[in-house]
Amino acid sequence: MSRTSLLTGGAGFIGSHLARHLIAKGHRVIVLDDLSTGRFSNIEDLDRTHAAEGRFKFIFDSVLHERVVEDLVREADEIYHLASAVGVNLIMNEPVRTIETIVGGTHSVLRCAARYRRRTMVFSTSEVYGKSSDVPFREDGDRLEGATSRHRWAYSCAKALDEFLALAHWKQTRLPVVVVRLFNTAGPRQTGQYGMVVPSFVRCALRGEPLTVYGTGEQSRCFCHVADVVEALEGLMGCEAATGQVFNIGSTEEIGILELARRVVELTESRSEIQRISYEKVYGADGFEDMQRRLPSIDKIARTTGWRPKRGLNEIIRDVAAAMREEGVGGEP
Ligand code: UDP
Repeated sequence: MSRTSLLTGGAGFIGSHLARHLIAKGHRVIVLDDLSTGRFSNIEDLDRTHAAEGRFKFIFDSVLHERVVEDLVREADEIYHLASAVGVNLIMNEPVRTIETIVGGTHSVLRCAARYRRRTMVFSTSEVYGKSSDVPFREDGDRLEGATSRHRWAYSCAKALDEFLALAHWKQTRLPVVVVRLFNTAGPRQTGQYGMVVPSFVRCALRGEPLTVYGTGEQSRCFCHVADVVEALEGLMGCEAATGQVFNIGSTEEIGILELARRVVELTESRSEIQRISYEKVYGADGFEDMQRRLPSIDKIARTTGWRPKRGLNEIIRDVAAAMREEGVGGEP
């Protein structure tokens, strides 16, 4: 009998890559997604190829509906709880939905998981480090959040609460949970619609439109290829020693955002200009507290499962550009 993996948010960018990977490994995959930020087109091929033989099932519903979640959890051997509000734009524009789906969704998934004792991976984010400048960020490091009047910290705080809840289930009843903090992840099928910088830049470069760098462009990030991230997730899910623990997942190849814009223009052989724009112009008078550096320590996962990213930034940019060209971005494929 093959393992059944339940992926909440499985029609999203990372979830759909994970779903594909697990199916290829022989798992049966159930995707629960309300398509709020995910897209059915991300998993359409899986549905077409594997649904009839029972190896893939898509349920169009919300993680907030506990009855639905319960039925699926019962059917599954393991749960990847990816469903979440995601992307800076959504977090800034829909703060109520952001908090409710993050906290409410995780609450409902963990309650059901506890009822049936299913191993559950809870997806958190590098945002939980807040504006700490204590880089590289270590899992046991302090977090530093801003005032509650600034909505961006609601995301960080809600995700931290998810972590507390997962670890509380482990502490109180030994429910096997693993918490992962994803740092910037990029790759094919990621949409720039919610503010993600790599697909946004690549799309502009392919269309010959200006790339807009927010602020000075000196702020830096480390981008990890989604294919590497998927391998990290699978490794932790199968690793007994990871149970009840928190892990950073990300790349340590750091690049400034202005430099990233230049790299994208160069690798796509684009004639696009690079423009700078203030945070106030992008986010309004309230502004936005951006993080200057977001560099993970990945010693813990390397020690525990042996994982390290294998693909570099250039490969990410090339893969994203190739996928967009195939979709017809910037002219006929
Ligand atoms: N950014 C930018 N131009 C864009 C989108 C993002 O300069 O069109 C910047 C953004 O201000 C941040 C970095 O790129 O400093 C990464 O942004 P993203 O939203 O991808 O991830 P996060 O801020 O969550 O790390």
